[in-house]
Amino acid sequence: MSFNIVYKENKLILPEFDCDCGMNHNTPEMDIYIGSGIIENCAEYIKKSIAGKNALVVADNNTWEVAGSKVVKILSDAGFHMVNCILKREGKLEPDQTALGEIMLAVEPDTEFIVAVGSGVINDLSRYAAYCIGKPLVSIGTAPSMDGYTSVISSLHNKNLVMTKHDKYARVLVCDVDIMRNAPYDMMISGFGDVLGKFISKADWTLGKIVNNEVCCPVCLEILTLALNKCINNIDGIRNRTREGVQSLIEALILTGLTILICGQTRPVASIEHNMAHFWDMMKLQDGEESPAHGTSVGVGTVYAARFFDLFFKIDTSSLNKSEIRKRKKTKEQWEKEVLECYGEVLGPSILKNNPDEYIDWDEQERRIDTVISNMDRIKKELSFLPTGSRMIEIMNQIGAPVKAGQLDIDRKLLKDALMYGKDYRSRYTVFKTANELGLLEEFVDKLLEEDE
Ligand SMILES: [Zn+2]
Ligand SMILES: [Zn+2]
Repeated sequence: MSFNIVYKENKLILPEFDCDCGMNHNTPEMDIYIGSGIIENCAEYIKKSIAGKNALVVADNNTWEVAGSKVVKILSDAGFHMVNCILKREGKLEPDQTALGEIMLAVEPDTEFIVAVGSGVINDLSRYAAYCIGKPLVSIGTAPSMDGYTSVISSLHNKNLVMTKHDKYARVLVCDVDIMRNAPYDMMISGFGDVLGKFISKADWTLGKIVNNEVCCPVCLEILTLALNKCINNIDGIRNRTREGVQSLIEALILTGLTILICGQTRPVASIEHNMAHFWDMMKLQDGEESPAHGTSVGVGTVYAARFFDLFFKIDTSSLNKSEIRKRKKTKEQWEKEVLECYGEVLGPSILKNNPDEYIDWDEQERRIDTVISNMDRIKKELSFLPTGSRMIEIMNQIGAPVKAGQLDIDRKLLKDALMYGKDYRSRYTVFKTANELGLLEEFVDKLLEEDE
């Protein structure tokens, strides 16, 4: 099948599709508008989908300047009543208990919907607040910096700990390309990295299908491919912030985000590259340090994962010795001890608790080893879309994005821990687990670290 983007007066029309992959597919009830200068129509878009006149508008000091004040003027001219909540910060706005508290305290008894004017942090906070009060959310995007505009999960901080909270996606999303074009360039680098990570999630998901019979949706894979092509084919446009370039980037981010809604989970869009980014985020936050932008970390994780895949593809399966692998297999106690040491006293136990079936016995490990060995040709063929590590670095260089952990202030210990234990953060299957089951994880990680010097 072939998936493409169709618009009707700037409204994204999702094609109908039939898929019998076994997942429970949903068509999201979300009106998405993308185009140049369309912020002028935001009142009209809201009226079409939301009953109510009383809005709480959430922005930070930057997004208020670039779009918030304008949105308020347009809405009040159209007869809406607004309460404004501007989260003023000297430095970076954190999605923490203070910010969420400020929003909740601005809610009035007659608030009928929330309007989020901003990108990642503002959306996460506002979406969760809207969910808590049971009212719809309107999202006015200001930067093509991440794929969370269509998300149903907010990443929030509580006393230096990352918490992921389930909530409900926005009812209306407005992405004015003219506003997004003027976002700081590092936000575009972040958005680009978040999309590029889909190479890895797509590869890991396909690998899970082959090795573990995991349900893998061909429609979602097709959407991810379209999104990746939009980015890879428009690098110059993105770098020069042309309308077409920035529109391609935001389309790619929205398309990938839509796969989450279509199949009700984040498997299509997040694998080991996201685990690594989350790991760095959590560890930095625990130490009271500022973490790198989400997509920028994901981009760096993507480069390491692509380099890891290079090593995986080079395995000489005839040299694998199962009795040797079995001898070196860690006991459950050993493995749990290492996860607790790596993730710490607070996060470690919750990771073990949330992934109770993570440790596999030898019979299952042997089955996986045999499956990988007998399917290596098929794996290489189905994963042939994946760029090599050096090609991935070339793409990242073209966009001007970092490619190494050191460039994000991630030291060698944090890098090594992410490479060794990033796979344990979620039960999701990834090539890092395959390598571990083949007894090759440490060797591969050492090679990556060596090449990194
Ligand atoms: Zn992401
Ligand atoms: Zn499907």
